[in-house]
Amino acid sequence: PALVARVEALVRLVPDFPQPGVLFRDITPLLADAATFADVVAAMAAAAGEVDLVAGMEARGFLLAAPLATALGAGLVPVRKAGKLPGPSLAETYDLEYGTATLEVHPDTVPAGARVLVVDDVLATGGTAAATVRLLERAGADVVGLSVLVELTALGGRARLGGHRVDALLTPA
Ligand code: 5GP
Repeated sequence: PALVARVEALVRLVPDFPQPGVLFRDITPLLADAATFADVVAAMAAAAGEVDLVAGMEARGFLLAAPLATALGAGLVPVRKAGKLPGPSLAETYDLEYGTATLEVHPDTVPAGARVLVVDDVLATGGTAAATVRLLERAGADVVGLSVLVELTALGGRARLGGHRVDALLTPA
């Protein structure tokens, strides 16, 4: 079957996780399927243009960003949750449904003008991705776009990314 159908079959829907009313997309069955995992990384690589760095958001973004970076011959920038990075860091705080979250990056790993592709498993409201784009742009990056496995289009995340290009393998409502 086509890659999109294989991905759809391997992204498990978990009702009421992590809280009631949320339908969570669990990518662990996909990660465990060697052929589909490899084909997903290859498809993301094929959709990406020329990039110098791939940035992945903690934690599931790391799982896709690292193999994608090596496939593209690019470096990797981990975008981490607050307090995890040891060196001088930039931070961006964004709103969640309840409370806030903070992401950080080591700006000295992002050369001025570096072309950076942002990678995560799921684009939902876009808060995480928008904060990541702000962080990388503050660090001097040229953010060339966002690549995700799943874009929950009904949540409108794409509109919060300032016109940056978004590639998604799976786009359920
Ligand atoms: P947003 O900030 O766009 O609302 O949420 C996206 C972030 O939350 C991503 O880092 C993503 O990993 C996580 N996330 C939100 N919903 C889901 C989901 O249904 N499945 C998975 N695997 N991650 C999700």
